Amino acid sequence: MLVNGAVVAGKGASTARGRSADEIEQIRVLLQSRFEDLDREYEEAVAQNTRLRLVEIGDAAGDDQADSGSKTAERDAATSLLRTLLDRRTQAEHALHRLDEGTYGNCEGCSNPIPVERLEVFPSATTCVNCKQVRERRAS
Ligand SMILES: [Zn+2]
Repeated sequence: MLVNGAVVAGKGASTARGRSADEIEQIRVLLQSRFEDLDREYEEAVAQNTRLRLVEIGDAAGDDQADSGSKTAERDAATSLLRTLLDRRTQAEHALHRLDEGTYGNCEGCSNPIPVERLEVFPSATTCVNCKQVRERRAS
C-alpha cells in the first residue's frame, strides 16, 4: 500500500475518493466551529492565566507557605489547560488546511474516506475504525 500512499501525497492527486462536496462542506463547517470554540476557550484560558500571575505577584509579599502552594497548583492546572487547548486548536487548524488540500479525512490505512460521524467525534482521526482496530490488535 506504499504506492497508494505516494499517490495520496502527490500534488493534484484525487484523494477525496467517494466523498461528496456536501460532505466536505459539512466537515468544513464542523472543523471551523470547533476551531472557533477552541480559539475562544484558549483566549479565556490565557486571560485566566494572566490573572493568576498578577494575583501571585501582588500577593507574593505576605504569602504563607500553604497559600502559595495552592496557588502554584492552580497556576499549573491553568498552564496545562492552556497547552491542551493550544494542541487541539492546532489540530483543528491542520485539519482545515488538509481539507483544503484534499488530504483530510482519508484513512491512512486503507485510504478510504473516514465516515463523517467518526470525524465529528474525533476531528483529528487519521484512520477509519477498522484500520484503527487492526493497528491496535497488532500493537497488543
Ligand atoms: Zn481504513
